[in-house]
Amino acid sequence: MKLSIRHSLSLKLLLVALPTALLIGLLLGMVQIAYEARQIREHIQTDAHQTLSMVKDPATQAIYRLDDTMAEQVTRGLFKHPSIHEAYIGSPGEVPLSEHSRPLLNTPTRWLSDWLFGREQRFSVRLTGAPPNEEYYGDLRIAVDTAPYGQRLIRNTAVILVSVLARVLILVLILYLVYHWILTRPLSRVLNHLASIEPGQSGYKSLPLPKGHEHNELGRWITTANQLLASIERNTLLREEAINSLQRISQHDLLTGLSNRQAFHGQLEWTLSEADRQNHNVAVLCLGLDDFKSINEQYGYQVGDRLLLKLVTRLRAGCPNVDGFGRLGGDRFALIKLIKQPDEAAELAHAVMDALDSPFNVEQYQAHLSASIGITLYPEDGQTADQLMQRAEQTMALVKTQGQNGYKFYVASVDQDIRFRRGLAKDLREALKRQELYLVYQPQIDYASQRVSGVEALLRWNHPTHGFIPPDVFIPLAERTGSIVALGEWVLEQACSQLHIWYASGYTSLRMAINLSAVQLQQENLPAYIQSLLLRHGLPPKRLELEVTETALMEDVDTAVQTLRRLREVGALIALDDFGTGYSSLAYLKRLPLDKIKIDKSFVQDLTNEKDDAPLVRAIIQLGKSLNKELIAEGVETDLQEAYIVEQGCDEGQGYFYSKPIPAAQVPDFIEGRMQGLPLSRVVPVKH
Ligand code: C2E
Ligand code: CA
Ligand code: CA
Repeated sequence: MKLSIRHSLSLKLLLVALPTALLIGLLLGMVQIAYEARQIREHIQTDAHQTLSMVKDPATQAIYRLDDTMAEQVTRGLFKHPSIHEAYIGSPGEVPLSEHSRPLLNTPTRWLSDWLFGREQRFSVRLTGAPPNEEYYGDLRIAVDTAPYGQRLIRNTAVILVSVLARVLILVLILYLVYHWILTRPLSRVLNHLASIEPGQSGYKSLPLPKGHEHNELGRWITTANQLLASIERNTLLREEAINSLQRISQHDLLTGLSNRQAFHGQLEWTLSEADRQNHNVAVLCLGLDDFKSINEQYGYQVGDRLLLKLVTRLRAGCPNVDGFGRLGGDRFALIKLIKQPDEAAELAHAVMDALDSPFNVEQYQAHLSASIGITLYPEDGQTADQLMQRAEQTMALVKTQGQNGYKFYVASVDQDIRFRRGLAKDLREALKRQELYLVYQPQIDYASQRVSGVEALLRWNHPTHGFIPPDVFIPLAERTGSIVALGEWVLEQACSQLHIWYASGYTSLRMAINLSAVQLQQENLPAYIQSLLLRHGLPPKRLELEVTETALMEDVDTAVQTLRRLREVGALIALDDFGTGYSSLAYLKRLPLDKIKIDKSFVQDLTNEKDDAPLVRAIIQLGKSLNKELIAEGVETDLQEAYIVEQGCDEGQGYFYSKPIPAAQVPDFIEGRMQGLPLSRVVPVKH
C-alpha cells in the first residue's frame, strides 16, 4: 500500500501551517505598516521643518531687503522639492514678496495619503532679525502635498508584504521539509515495512529504527512495535507448528509416515491433472498383503508393525520413482505412477513383488510376505480418483480370491461381474423371505444292495429377474456376506422335515446328506443345534449325513476335529466332500473323525477320458478302505465309470447316471422305480 503525498502528514502540516503563518505574517505586516505610516507622518513634519530651516536665512534676507528676485529664487528653489505644493514669503497685510503654488499631484494612491495624512499640511516659520531684538519681518510658509509620502508608504508596504510573504513561505517550506525528513519519511519506511508483513506468516524482519530517532517518540514507538511483532511472530510460529502437526496427523499414517487414504486421494487427483497436462497416463496400484492377519496373530501386533515399517522401507527403495505412495489402511498400500505404456505398470508391480521376495527378519522371527496387486490405468479404467482407487482395490480383492501373490489389471467385464454379484448378494438376503429358494434331492445308490441308500439335499435359487442361479455362484456369495448361516439353517430344517415325511411314510433307512459350509462349521453351537434338530424331527441317529469339504476343515484343523467329534456324538455321520481337490494329506485324514469319503466328480468324470485318473481313483479308494472309511463316488455319468469304481470296491455312487437332483415329490417314485428295475436277488426292500 503506497501512501500518496496528498494524504501525508507533512502536507497536512503544510496546509495548516501555511495559512496560519500567512495570517500571523499579515498581522505583523499590518503592525509594521502602521508603524511605517506613523514614521512617514513624522517624516513629513521633519522634512518640512528641515526645508524651512534650510531656506529661512535667504528668505529673511530677501524680506529684509525687500528683494523680490531673491524671494523668487527661494520659492522656486523650494519647488524643487516634489512634495512642496505652495510657497509664500511675505509680511501680513502686504503684497507677498513671492508666492507660488502648483496643483496637488494626482497619484493613484492619493486617496490613501489623503486619508492617512490629510491632502496637504501647512508649515510656516517667522522671519525675524538678529537677536536680541529679533524684529519681525514676515513669514515663510509652505504647504506640503502628502501624495509623494503616500507613494512612499505604498512602496514600503509592498516591500513589507513581499518580505513577510517570502519569510512565511520559506519558513513553512523549511518546516515542511524538516517534518518530512524527521517524521514522514521514517514513518513511511516503517509503514512500507509493516505493509510487507504477511499477517499469519512467520519470518519477517523487524522494523528498521531510523538513525537519530533511537530515543524519541518514533524510536520508542518502533521498539515497542518490534516487541509486539516479535511476540506475534512467536505465536504465529507456534500456531503454524500446531497446524503443521495437525495436518501431518490428518494427512499421514501415524505408523509409516506415508500419506493416508485421504491424502493419497488428493495426490492421485493432482497426478491425474498433471497427466492431462503432460499427456501421460497414470497407473494406480493397490496392494494388499496376503494373510497379514495371521502374521499379527502369530507374532503379535508390535512385530506386525515393525514388519510393515521394514516393508515400507523396502518398497521405497525398490520403487523409487513413484508419484505417490500411501497406506490405505491395515495391510493395504497404494502407489501412483505417471506412465506412458501399460508395461510400466506391470514393471512396477514386479518391482513390488521383488521387494517382498526375500524374507523379513524382525526380532528373532523370520516372516515371508506376499502381496496381491490390483492395477487401474488412467484414463482407460476410470475418470476420477475415486473410480480408479475403488476399481484397483476391487481388482486386488479379486487377486486375493484367485490364489493371491500376483497382480491383475482391472477388466471392465470383471467389474460388471462383481457388480452383478453384489446385487445378487443383496437379493439373496431377501430370497428366503420371498420364498425363492427350494431344495432338490439327488439319490445316492448303494452298490452292495443296489438300492437308494440316501439323497443329497441341494439348494436351488430361482431369482425373480435372473432366473436360475447356480449354487456354485450364490453359495460362495452367501459365505462371504454371512447369510450362509441363515440359509444353512433353513436347508437343515427343510431337509430334516422332508426326511421326517419320508421316514413317516416308510422309508426308514433313507439317509439325508446335507452340505455344510465352512462358516457353519465355525458356529460354536452347531452340534447342539443338530442335536435339537434330530430330536425335533424325530429322526433316529445316522440318518443325517453332513458333508464338509477339506478346505473348510483345513482353516482350523484342531477345532474342526473337535466339532466333527461332537457332531458324531449327537448322532450325525460325517462325509468328506470333494475329496482329492484339496490338500488330501494322509496325516490329517487319519486325525479327522470321518465316516465317509466322497471322491470328487472331476476324478470320476475323467475316468474314461484320462487313463491317468484311473490309478488315482483306485488309490483314493484304497486309502479310504485302509482308513476304514466308507467311499462314495460323485458325478457318475456312465456305466463304464460305474463299472470301474464298483470293481475297485467303492461303496456308493451318485450322479446323472442314476438321477439328476429331483424335487422331493419325485423321490419316492424314483426309489420305487429303481427297485422294480432290479434283478430280484439284488432288491432289498427299503419300505417296511
Ligand atoms: P457338491 O456338494 O459337490 O454337489 C454336487 C454337485 O454336483 C451338484 O451341483 C450336483 O448337481 C452336481 N452333480 C451331481 N451329479 C452330477 C453328474 O453326474 N455330473 C455333473 N456334471 N454334476 C453332477 P449343484 O447342485 O450345482 O451344487 C453345486 C455345489 O453347491 C455343491 O457341490 C455344494 O458345494 C454347493 N451346495 C449346493 N447346495 C448347498 C447347500 O444346501 N449348502 C451348502 N453349503 N452348499 C450347497
Ligand atoms: Ca456335496
Ligand atoms: Ca462334491
